[in-house]
Amino acid sequence: MAEPAAKRAKKLDFPAYAPPAGKPTRTSNLREALRDPPATSTYASDEVVRFIYDGYPKARVHLLALAPPGSPLRDVKSVKDLRPKHLEALRAFHARCEECARSLPEESVRIGYHAEPSMNWLHCHVISTDFDSTCLKTKQHWNSFMTDFFVPADEVERLLETDDDAFGTALRTDLAARAKHEKDDLRCHRCLKPQKNMPALKAHILACTTY
Ligand code: AMP
Repeated sequence: MAEPAAKRAKKLDFPAYAPPAGKPTRTSNLREALRDPPATSTYASDEVVRFIYDGYPKARVHLLALAPPGSPLRDVKSVKDLRPKHLEALRAFHARCEECARSLPEESVRIGYHAEPSMNWLHCHVISTDFDSTCLKTKQHWNSFMTDFFVPADEVERLLETDDDAFGTALRTDLAARAKHEKDDLRCHRCLKPQKNMPALKAHILACTTY
């Protein structure tokens, strides 16, 4: 029998997942809200990663991994600013994200970045793949997780590892190509049938039998 999520979480040094009620308080500079989010938004934190609850979760479980003060990744403005010199710290950052994913109640969880982030400061999504959320409203929201716009964390590492210069050219080139997928036509991620809008897509998914 599978181990209960709360027990798994405890073993990996995480609390049980229980998102806060309500939306985050709006700051004057929206893009900067992930620099120092309020303590109440924290799910778990140590010297390597601070996990906060995504303020507008796009699935039943949706966390953002941030670099805490003192981390070598703290002043990295976005995934686009990662360079090969960050690899060691990034591997530790992603390893903790993987432990977090294993501790969560949902079994299928993705870890990665948006090719063109909307918010400043490095943040890695840890998100369950149900995408069952009233906050998931637009084609951009859908495409940002369902197309190659979403860059798996291990792919970011791989691109930095293959970079033969200090400027992260391979990573930046890949991200620029992926960013175009934000505008892809809307389609079911299972049967790939085109959908005319988000309500149609949500209704279709409930009935889609393709796995
Ligand atoms: P990205 O497109 O990768 O930059 O994703 C930014 C994420 O930050 C989105 O999933 C938003 O829902 C989330 N977000 C935006 N503002 C806040 C906030 N004030 N607190 C917590 N999460 C936020």
